[in-house]
Amino acid sequence: MGDLIVRNVIRECYDGHISVRPVCDVDSVVFHRISRAEDPGSPFGSVPDFELSGQLVAAWFREHGPQRPGSYTGGETPYTGLVRVDGSVDQMLGAADQGAHATRWNYRGLGIAFAGDFRAHAPSEAQVSAAVFIAAMALCAGWRVHTHDEVRDEPKGCPGDLWPQDKIMKKAREIAAVRGACSTNEALRRIGFVI
Ligand SMILES: [Zn+2]
Repeated sequence: MGDLIVRNVIRECYDGHISVRPVCDVDSVVFHRISRAEDPGSPFGSVPDFELSGQLVAAWFREHGPQRPGSYTGGETPYTGLVRVDGSVDQMLGAADQGAHATRWNYRGLGIAFAGDFRAHAPSEAQVSAAVFIAAMALCAGWRVHTHDEVRDEPKGCPGDLWPQDKIMKKAREIAAVRGACSTNEALRRIGFVI
């Protein structure tokens, strides 16, 4: 499997707030969905999933209103990465900057969002491949890998019923076994994330 294409768009996603944690405390990844279906009333609502970028998603959360998704992040960019429909990744936060994406998992976890609503359709093959690679590198570092619903008290369809988490984890375990154990810094480097 080839490496991921990761774009560093951290500066363009800057939310005016850096919430620093020691990178060595990162020990998990949480997968999410993000799409226009989250907020059909917003200007963002007309953007098709395949055009979603890290910059657009960050702007959406920054310019939150009371009923908008950003209302629960305080306007902060919640995700470390957005996996686009084409499988490429926009890095939105540095690995040492925690995002508000899954309550008790914010401090330890990297939030990774995938463009699309997987309650309604399956992720693209490229997105599944990216999820497998990220999960595999996470497993190499001994991290846990979860969907948002798995770490919520009450599941709310994130990423959604059509998200193939079992299949992703099975392939990720196979790849992790081949690549071998590594440090957290090395896992981040392999994924292509900057700290
Ligand atoms: Zn979520």
